Amino acid sequence: MVQVRGLWKSFGPNAVLRGVDLDVPAGSVTVVLGPSGSGKSTLLRAINHLEKVDRGFVAIDGELIGYRRAGDRLHELKEREVLRQRTNIGFVFQNFNLFPHLTVLENIVEAPVSALRRPKAEARARALELLERVGLAEKADAYPRQLSGGQQQRVAIARALALEPKVLLFDEPTSALDPELVGEVLDVVKDLARAGTTMIVVTHEIGFAREVADTVVFMDGGVVVEQGPPQAVLDEPRHERTRAFLAKVL
Ligand code: ADP
Ligand code: MG
Repeated sequence: MVQVRGLWKSFGPNAVLRGVDLDVPAGSVTVVLGPSGSGKSTLLRAINHLEKVDRGFVAIDGELIGYRRAGDRLHELKEREVLRQRTNIGFVFQNFNLFPHLTVLENIVEAPVSALRRPKAEARARALELLERVGLAEKADAYPRQLSGGQQQRVAIARALALEPKVLLFDEPTSALDPELVGEVLDVVKDLARAGTTMIVVTHEIGFAREVADTVVFMDGGVVVEQGPPQAVLDEPRHERTRAFLAKVL
């Protein structure tokens, strides 16, 4: 479903991605681990084409993201084409990024109505179903500031799902939360995994990775150092850098 090939990205002299390859099959969950600054967020942003890369490409369900191929040349897509492609890629941020001036329901309805031209009544009905799914139906008319961080993040997940994306990307979805609120958000992500949602989750929650991931990817210095099933990467890491990282977070 997600195909990442040979991604390179520098910020000035700082090469942040140095040839990243990644494959995420449909219906599978990939957890990305790695120290701060290893390029995890940049990778997610590149998948979404929020970050333009210097080399390499991303394809979702066989469709090249951000470019059109003509012979052996790549042409950049127009902004509105990229926006359409992004509706296939849900993104959940560390800091929720809800619209503060909109109610919970309006936050969820906004994109399906404006980006997908869904009728408002249909989008509202679907939003209520999604709120039910994340356990927040009773908060439909609340504003984000009236919710806990955990509740806000569950709304952000419902909002991402409203576009019926082919893949969901999570960038440290629980690292801004008080410890007692982490579980309720991870429970929602676990439910999505059970339902066969294709997901890439950047997180430091090793227990979650062990329970939910089909593949664990360890990144350091802009490369994938190793990847494999959770038991292999977490319990019998083959690389010293992976071992050193796990020793710090476990
Ligand atoms: P991680 O998410 O693994 O902590 P990031 O992908 O956020 O890592 O960042 C990797 C490196 O890229 C860091 O050194 C960071 O400072 C740098 N970086 C990220 N975004 C930018 C940017 N927009 N401009 C300059 N440097 C950036
Ligand atoms: Mg990051």
